Amino acid sequence: VPEGDSIFRAARTLNQALAGKKVVRFESVLPALTRIDDDHPLRGRTVEHVGSVGKHLLIQFSGELVLRTHMRMNGSWHIYRPGERWRRPRRDMRVVIATDDFEAVGFRIPVAEFLRSESFDFGRTQVGHALGPDLLDPGFDAPEARRRLRARPAAQIAEALLDQRVMAGIGNVYKSETLFLTAVNPFVVVESLNESQIDRIVDTARDLLQRDVTAGVVPMTTYGGLRRTTARDNPAQRLWVYGRARQPCRRCGAPIRARKQGPYARLTYWCPTCQPS
Ligand SMILES: [Zn+2]
Repeated sequence: VPEGDSIFRAARTLNQALAGKKVVRFESVLPALTRIDDDHPLRGRTVEHVGSVGKHLLIQFSGELVLRTHMRMNGSWHIYRPGERWRRPRRDMRVVIATDDFEAVGFRIPVAEFLRSESFDFGRTQVGHALGPDLLDPGFDAPEARRRLRARPAAQIAEALLDQRVMAGIGNVYKSETLFLTAVNPFVVVESLNESQIDRIVDTARDLLQRDVTAGVVPMTTYGGLRRTTARDNPAQRLWVYGRARQPCRRCGAPIRARKQGPYARLTYWCPTCQPS
């Protein structure tokens, strides 16, 4: 199931590719969408913004039209260059939004509908309002992120990093990678960290996310795309601890550990030597 943070990431990626661009082609196999497209064509409209509210992905077009999609279990959005071969079969296609530069393809999306924009108030919905500073925002408010982190003194740091109300954008991969790079044990509570540790955690998370985005690999597959934190070219060596249970730590050789953590039992990876409790 795509989680809130991966919907958030998908929205960021789609926004980066599509926002401000004119739709040159719209295609769908869903009658609820094609009916609206017949009466109020999408072609020629501008994609104004792609965002997420909870697990809903919202694509806002000029002319007060919003496409709401929900991925459920199997849905996904991919981004391709025009003419590039899709990585899923055509029969799984539900929606295509093409601009001159990119083609966004929604595969096996079970829930999709057009809404008038007034039914959604971007950024001012309850969910939008509760989100913490956005790590990918050029104007990222680091002091506010640190304040929100310290406002959860009893939370384990790995859990606090996944909380999108603290900072928006960190998923399970970057949670473990950030804590390895800052030598912080994932199970310690926020109040046991000093100011410089909090600073480094926020700065490192931001660096990792920005590097991932600016790597700009095309196609920008919004799910399952390669994420890289070690700056090594070999994909097998691209992460420090995530997904590496029982393999030797790249710094000290100790076996990496993995354990389920938090109410959603998300796997956390860490090096017991480099990140002592
Ligand atoms: Zn180590």
